[in-house]
Amino acid sequence: MSSTTSHLQSEQAAKRQAIADVQTSNYVFPNSAPNGEHTHATEKLNKSHALGLDKHDPIAHLIKQFEIPSNTIYLDGNSLGPLPISAKKAAMDVVEKQWGEDLITSWNKHAWIDLPTTVGDKIAPLIGAEKGQVICCDSISVNLFKLLASALQLNGSQRHIVLSQEDNFPTDLYMVEGLQQMLGTQQCSLLTCDADELETVIVEKGSEISVLMLTHVNFRSGKIHDMQKLTQLAHEQGVLVIWDLAHSAGAVPVDLDSCKVDFAVGCGYKYLNGGPGAPAFIYAAKRHIAKLKQPLTGWMGHANPFTFDPSYSPDMGIKKFLSGTPSVISMAVLSAALDLFERVNMTQIREKSVAMTTFYQQLIAQAPSLSELVLASPNKASIRGSQLAYKHPHAYALCQALIAQGIIADFRAPDILRFGFSPSFLSFEQLFDSVEKLKVIVESEQYKEPEFNRKNAVT
Ligand SMILES: *Cc1c(COP(=O)(O)O)cnc(C)c1O
Repeated sequence: MSSTTSHLQSEQAAKRQAIADVQTSNYVFPNSAPNGEHTHATEKLNKSHALGLDKHDPIAHLIKQFEIPSNTIYLDGNSLGPLPISAKKAAMDVVEKQWGEDLITSWNKHAWIDLPTTVGDKIAPLIGAEKGQVICCDSISVNLFKLLASALQLNGSQRHIVLSQEDNFPTDLYMVEGLQQMLGTQQCSLLTCDADELETVIVEKGSEISVLMLTHVNFRSGKIHDMQKLTQLAHEQGVLVIWDLAHSAGAVPVDLDSCKVDFAVGCGYKYLNGGPGAPAFIYAAKRHIAKLKQPLTGWMGHANPFTFDPSYSPDMGIKKFLSGTPSVISMAVLSAALDLFERVNMTQIREKSVAMTTFYQQLIAQAPSLSELVLASPNKASIRGSQLAYKHPHAYALCQALIAQGIIADFRAPDILRFGFSPSFLSFEQLFDSVEKLKVIVESEQYKEPEFNRKNAVT
């Protein structure tokens, strides 16, 4: 290793460490525990602490870039990001002007055809990727299918296991099951284990494992995996790694290139605020791209789609991961939403996110009436994403009662009340107010009313 590379690597390691140990220097409050360890409060937080934090919040200017109903406190940006004003304008423009007036000429005139690449290039810096390795398309599920098949093939026929964790987001596991059904267990078989057994399984079964597929931030608990450590451990065993960044992209800094990650997928409609059903993205490390063969060989992934060649030959770059026509309206909206990230960097986002989860955790811990809420997220902010999960026997009804009061959180079966903290549009005052309302709901037992106990289709 040359001294320049090693110098660069240690610089990058230092940067990662700085992010992990983010000091809440811009957000100081009693017991704010800059090392991220939650300690028991000696001084109670009150509304003036919240107002003070808002006053000195260096990224508070982002809040006015969103359109959120004034009577709503939105603690669900981790499931569906709210509407950025830029996205709304883009939606009008793409429909009325580009589609309405310029019709099919827009493929060239408004560069619709380049959207998967231009949007991919906007996402790349948020996930520590050099250009040319990220493409915007389809959903996470479909993208996982493409990557899993490519990775299994790339890693040769001697290995057949796809290792994941039991409590991964179900669709990730389902996609492996589907592939297993199609290819047979000789070529693809899903193996899951507990998160804390992963390292042992990787070492013990290393020679049989083809792909390690993990979600960086757990969707329920918010626990963060050590991406660098697990990627390196997998590589030592010849295992390729796919990271799902659904709860990371736009909320938790990741450095795919410097962690030497092989592949990743991520979501457009969560922290990237691209709107319902916004397209997802794929990352494939440059060193692999030329060799990869993805199975959904549609015309948009062809080297020359408009020569209408009767046989398939893939684009040699990241565009080989495209299949069919991009969903232009959704992608144009996501593209405009991503422009918000030009006003802020991921370290600033992370700093406010850590402060918010720590502040909220402390507000809940200091309320005697909320003692039945049991934290299911890590206690330590440095290994926790931008959310807090609490177990409660009446989590569903509490969530419904909160929603009725304009505080939108979500419920995750079987008993989790989940609060998401998108740093770009929330204020500390809103966090304080939402806990005050939660206290009233619990103390008055409002949540026991039948209307809050009926199940909806989407939770
Ligand atoms: C939200 C989420 C998905 C969503 O997958 P889609 O196919 O895009 O609907 C996948 N994985 C994880 C971990 C998620 O949190």
